[in-house]
Amino acid sequence: MKASRCVVLFCLIGFLSAGMSWQDTEEKPLPDDIVLLEYRALFPGEAVKISINSLPIIKSVQVLFRGKTYEAPQKSDVFLCLIGLDLGMKEGIYPVTVRLHKEDRTVDEIKKEIYVKTKQFPVKKLWVKEEFVTPPQSVSNRIREESELIGAVYDIHSPEWRIDGNFVLPVKGQMFFNFGEKRIYNNKPRSQHSGIDISSPTGTPVMASNAGRVVLANHLYFSGKTVIIDHGLGVFSLYCHFSNISVEGGDEVEKGEMIGKIGATGRVTGPHLHWSIKIRGSRIDPNSLLSLNFK
Ligand SMILES: [Zn+2]
Repeated sequence: MKASRCVVLFCLIGFLSAGMSWQDTEEKPLPDDIVLLEYRALFPGEAVKISINSLPIIKSVQVLFRGKTYEAPQKSDVFLCLIGLDLGMKEGIYPVTVRLHKEDRTVDEIKKEIYVKTKQFPVKKLWVKEEFVTPPQSVSNRIREESELIGAVYDIHSPEWRIDGNFVLPVKGQMFFNFGEKRIYNNKPRSQHSGIDISSPTGTPVMASNAGRVVLANHLYFSGKTVIIDHGLGVFSLYCHFSNISVEGGDEVEKGEMIGKIGATGRVTGPHLHWSIKIRGSRIDPNSLLSLNFK
């Protein structure tokens, strides 16, 4: 009995000393709980905020999601990244990899998963001027050029956050929670509605939802008088159907600054603001962004 106790004790000492030497020579991986995912819900069209504690050992952070690499620059006391669950995403489990570049030039990875559930979006029939459903041949070049222009604008990549705290509602009025509606114009099916509409009288001032740089201020065929603001890191807000635009491309705007007035230009049924959010090309419900805290 004595001999076997000695063997157990010897083994225990050996194990402990082996463990100590392992701790001396190799650093522990960074713990999973330094990465925090926040969201309103996990459906297509929702924004997900990823914040990573800014430990002194971490030099920079990247997030990998659906084949794209997102930079996560430091904002206040965290590294901040915003990803979007596009309106067209299918139900499933989507991996998120957080890549932590450390002071000693090594890289740690923390893996998370997002389970995106399906959501049924309603069908809506609308009646507008036929020229906005089947445009005449004379405007086909204009529509193509404008579509290319918008595509080029959404490809702009500003490497720093321009946002100033939480996003805010750009105008007071009657909000329609109609993001994702399957639109049928004049009995012809068209694309899903990738924003929300806020009804308000013509001339009501519309504000920038957050700080940023105006990257488009034009009168476009479908969206009428339109403003797009770049909030950095591939996050854009789009405001359509103004009666009057009060900013120009290149302007830096503060959160709450007037950018235009409510109108009914483009494909509309009446005066309102169409407000959309894009995150690295993903179509996002602006209300999901309003629910996130950036202070
Ligand atoms: Zn709309």
